[in-house]
Amino acid sequence: MTSPIRLNLIGDNKPAERLHDLVKAPENTAWAQEKKHSWDASEPATVYYTPEVMPDGEQTTAATVILRTKGCHWWWSSGCTFCGYFNDTRDDVESKDLHAQWEYSKRKLSNFEGMGMVKVYTSGSLLEDREIPVDFQETVLRECAEMGKHLIIESRTEQCTMEKLQWASNINPDFTVAIGLEAHDDEVLRFHINKGFSLKSWVRAVENIRKVGQRVKTYLMFKPPFMNEGDALEQCTKWIIAAAEASDEISVNPMNIQRGTIIDRLFRAREYRPPWLWSLVELIQRTHPIIHPKGGLAGAEDQICRLIIHPTAAGRVRGSHNCGKCDKHVGAAIERYSVSGDLREFDGLDCACRKVWLNEIHLDTSTPVILGVGIPRRGPILEHLRSP
Ligand code: SF4
Ligand SMILES: [Zn+2]
Repeated sequence: MTSPIRLNLIGDNKPAERLHDLVKAPENTAWAQEKKHSWDASEPATVYYTPEVMPDGEQTTAATVILRTKGCHWWWSSGCTFCGYFNDTRDDVESKDLHAQWEYSKRKLSNFEGMGMVKVYTSGSLLEDREIPVDFQETVLRECAEMGKHLIIESRTEQCTMEKLQWASNINPDFTVAIGLEAHDDEVLRFHINKGFSLKSWVRAVENIRKVGQRVKTYLMFKPPFMNEGDALEQCTKWIIAAAEASDEISVNPMNIQRGTIIDRLFRAREYRPPWLWSLVELIQRTHPIIHPKGGLAGAEDQICRLIIHPTAAGRVRGSHNCGKCDKHVGAAIERYSVSGDLREFDGLDCACRKVWLNEIHLDTSTPVILGVGIPRRGPILEHLRSP
């Protein structure tokens, strides 16, 4: 007798009951579940500090605390196509664990001494009661206010109701809400990103945040899934311009491929190449005159909003990259621009691969090739054939 058909990606040899589980097969595999529950719930995912700029333009050091949480409620029912945060979560994290992680983080960074800013990220929304117990939300808000640190939190739009924001602002009068809008375009939000909220919902959230006197940071994504390089450049330029007035700060996240996501599948099928660093340079050059109508630098009077781009894993195959030879210099110039807001950071940058990139942009925007004409991988052909 032949054995029944096994859906072995699911891990426990039982057929999946929902399409949702099939789409998320990598997350449900035995190895992924084992890894997820191997994390220590009393320690944060990571804690570090970086140079930053305060809302008033002053240079400071910012602590970043990434907590180990239950993850994002949108992921539980669906999830964004590129989001790999589930890799860092644990299903059973409670208030006492989060408090232990918070104490650990403060100990590790000497109570954030000498730091003007604290970023608390939860792989979801800090102000979402289903993800984060309310008493812990309160601890973070209150302690940062008491310590006099500017707090940055992340949130989806649904949590930014007047009621919730007023409650949070009564505890902490000085924080920034960072929203992963990703694209200022309903079609892209729906079909490329599966964001689960609309532009209208973002507009409402921004209005509410402004009404309670807090700051808005907007994340935009450069080159979402199912989009070619040329379209990404055209689209993202439009999104920055459209979101600038409503945001105190725009942070562009160039796609990097995280394990077990839909974009990871596309990438491994060689149907997606992470963005070129040249595209990011071009994006900055196109949008700088809009962000700074009088040609000012970062923090200048003419600044409509702050524009920052930190390419994660720059120069790596799973992050934004060029040819491999020029990546370090181009990546560093982009990082420098995020601090200085000075276009001269790109003076003198060139490489033979710039022509290849330019050609790709030209063909992507002039021929009907939906996923683009670009070669998905760089390097020698033998390496492509050997890679998984
Ligand atoms: S809303 Fe944010 S945390 Fe939730 S699935 Fe999307 S990207 Fe991930
Ligand atoms: Zn190059």
